Amino acid sequence: MTVSASPTTHPVRVILWDIDKTLLLSDKRVNLFDNAFEELFGHPRPDDATISKGGKVDGQIAREYLALENSDDFDGYMRALNRISVEYYTRNPLSCVPGVPATLRATLDAGVINGLYTGNTPERASVKLTTAGIAPDEYFNGFAHGAAFCQGYSGNRLDGVPAVLAAFDPADVLIAGDTPRDYALAQAVGCRFWQVGETPIDDAAGIRVGRGHDFTGADGEGFLAALR
Ligand SMILES: [Mg+2]
Repeated sequence: MTVSASPTTHPVRVILWDIDKTLLLSDKRVNLFDNAFEELFGHPRPDDATISKGGKVDGQIAREYLALENSDDFDGYMRALNRISVEYYTRNPLSCVPGVPATLRATLDAGVINGLYTGNTPERASVKLTTAGIAPDEYFNGFAHGAAFCQGYSGNRLDGVPAVLAAFDPADVLIAGDTPRDYALAQAVGCRFWQVGETPIDDAAGIRVGRGHDFTGADGEGFLAALR
């Protein structure tokens, strides 16, 4: 854990959380995008057509799957993906990144707005969080404050940036994420960044205020300290 918060910054008032690998230990064993493809087209994805999902929003991945069939049935694909996801995560809940529930509670107690900025659809974000034990109603007051930016139907993760800037002063905002795409999002918003995990991220803009493996022990304390 390293913390390098500048003493001149003022307290964080809004945290926008990435979901996969930031809040949740996401499961790579199952590919629900494959399942949605098979449901829509009646046959499995061709073995020679591999589609990488890393760093992409749900809608980007969906369009790549649809292109395999020259299909433009985006709504049909997303309906299948949402329905399959609700069924799957209800039966196979994900786990939180260690320390997440207590950390979310501490930030709420400190008066912070906890929102989301994710490449998931609202439907998938909601079922993943709820079945992992961090119900949006209970832990993410951002849903009531216009701070739920679920970019799953868009074509690019940065599409929601204007909405963030319309709602909040970037100086009040911190984005918590685990990938260079999350870092690029914080750069585009012009806010501070907290890194979860060990993925190499070049802090060229000097906006990373710290990082931790998870939110337990010194890592969790460092995160809360970086908000003040
Ligand atoms: Mg992530």
